[in-house]
Amino acid sequence: MFPRVILKGTMIKKSQQKKRTSPCNYKERFFVLDTQDLKYSERRPGKKPMVKGCIKLHAIKCAEIVCSDVSIPCDYKYPFQVFHNNLYLYIFAPDNDCRQRWVRALKEETKHNNLVAKYHPNFWMDGKWRCCQQTEKLAAGCNVYDPVGYASKKPLPLLPDPDSDPQDDGQRMVIALQDYTPQGDDDLPLQKDQEYILINGNHSEWWAIEDEQGNHGFVPSTYVALKQGKNFERFEWYNKNITRGEAEDLLMKEGKEGAFMVRDSRQAGVYTVSVFTKAPGSNGEKNPRVKHYQIRQAETGEATYYLAEKYLFSTIPELIHYHQHNAAGLITRLRHPVSLDKSCSLDPADPLKDQWEVDPEELTLGQELGSGQFGLVLEGKWKDMKVAVKMIREECMSDEDFKDEARVMTRLYHYKLVQLYGVCTQRSPMCLVFEFMEKGCLSDYLRAKKGCLSQDTMMGMCLDVSEGMAYLESSNFIHRDLAARNCLVSKNNEVKVSDFGMTRFVLDDQYTSSQCSKFPVKWSSPEVIRYCKFSSKSDVWSFGVLMWEVFTEGRLPYENRTNAEVVDSLNAGLRLLKPRLAPDAVHQLMEWCWKEKPEDRPSFALLLHELASLSNS
Ligand code: ADP
Repeated sequence: MFPRVILKGTMIKKSQQKKRTSPCNYKERFFVLDTQDLKYSERRPGKKPMVKGCIKLHAIKCAEIVCSDVSIPCDYKYPFQVFHNNLYLYIFAPDNDCRQRWVRALKEETKHNNLVAKYHPNFWMDGKWRCCQQTEKLAAGCNVYDPVGYASKKPLPLLPDPDSDPQDDGQRMVIALQDYTPQGDDDLPLQKDQEYILINGNHSEWWAIEDEQGNHGFVPSTYVALKQGKNFERFEWYNKNITRGEAEDLLMKEGKEGAFMVRDSRQAGVYTVSVFTKAPGSNGEKNPRVKHYQIRQAETGEATYYLAEKYLFSTIPELIHYHQHNAAGLITRLRHPVSLDKSCSLDPADPLKDQWEVDPEELTLGQELGSGQFGLVLEGKWKDMKVAVKMIREECMSDEDFKDEARVMTRLYHYKLVQLYGVCTQRSPMCLVFEFMEKGCLSDYLRAKKGCLSQDTMMGMCLDVSEGMAYLESSNFIHRDLAARNCLVSKNNEVKVSDFGMTRFVLDDQYTSSQCSKFPVKWSSPEVIRYCKFSSKSDVWSFGVLMWEVFTEGRLPYENRTNAEVVDSLNAGLRLLKPRLAPDAVHQLMEWCWKEKPEDRPSFALLLHELASLSNS
């Protein structure tokens, strides 16, 4: 197959000094990364560029930024490294964004290679590694290498302190109880269930921690728990000493769909998940009850724990985390952790609570803008800003769940996302306050502008959405219902992503089950249709359909076909046809998004770069 170009651009490369005597120099080169090689050439005015080097991607063992503490002797000041064939290639990018683009793309293309476990974050210089002082150039690295990491936008990692051993057993670890999006420059993002090194836990509200890449920063102390041995007591879903009967009483009393807990089974060393559901029984009648699932263990392999067949995990917290987002064989998703001892709950005295609660006194409601899944949407005014207010009809939303999640959602901030300013829970019905988007939803906008949109404008729309989605992807947040109808257009014609994550709170079965009429089958990937397996890669599939909507000026995908017919044609390997207005390169991107296997689809980070380079060319 012909290699596909991923990135290209001018950067400066340092000589690789293959021999001890070879000179050290810095040369401007034109780099091209395609699906097979990283090539660099010399540009010669009036002549064909001359290829000066070519690195096979399969030979790359590490691609990472360099944290330099020395002044850089060339014009481009943002170094990164490519370790290949026992050589270190140092490349200098003109700015940090450019560097991150290249590192991310290289990581994406090499993530299945035989990679280094650890790398050197600083330069090899004057016969030693500046990070760990080792004097052997091929000595193993001193920092854990993250093969898929989204190169951090935060300040560069602090260099390791040569006196401290990161493997030291005396080190205290914490585990994130939930995601945290940084509020300031000194903060570090947290990913639920990930472990971090505790650097300083003396302050009552803010703890200093270090992540896997060596980044240091602060997080609210209520978002993490000290890791103690192998027990699950830090998790809000775990009840150690509770019988089956007590678990049933507690969950029935809670009475919320998906209320669950993990408890010890009677059999030693075995755990059971108990979950409350009101789902209709086989006779079709509502039947509130508690179901119990034993966590099973496969005989062999690295990932062994499972609840329902097919979904194997190496740890129980990972398994629970997955089923908190996907029912995948259970009667319902695990929505609501219930515990006898609520002391680990984040709610009481939450220092951040006020930041998302909208005071009803400050909110004025105006005329109707439209109506949607959850009820009416009104124009409004809040703190002198024009806002859109979604009034949530009570029977439409599982609002207890939503209130917990709203805190996370208000902290997702990106100029290509429609900002959720806050939630007004003191008013009935509850309402959500959003950034106001003058030109309404993208699907209506496309149809209204039919015949007037240039190809550039359409590219710009796709680029906008890919930017918002790349941010969600990097925040480990899954949209679940990406489509032109869920994007909005601003006064300045920017397109922003809206309604992210909201389908989880819809109570209408017709919408939430893939078998039912309102489920957005035409935007859903095969693994979502088959097993409700949502991921950023299922969002990527939907994004392919959204690009198709843009380039058909708002046509409905698979216009005259029923959901069942669409499923059949997807199973037969058929896909939407190329829109007449879409350039070939854009159609290729769509097809890439519609690869059967999620791992064969590009990430949003990569789609963003592809679209950006197509827009510039
Ligand atoms: P739901 O998420 O409840 O299904 P929608 O997001 O589809 O509701 O909103 C319904 C309509 O309300 C949209 O088509 C749009 O016209 C209008 N609307 C929604 N959010 C905004 C907003 N932030 N700014 C302006 N108009 C909006």
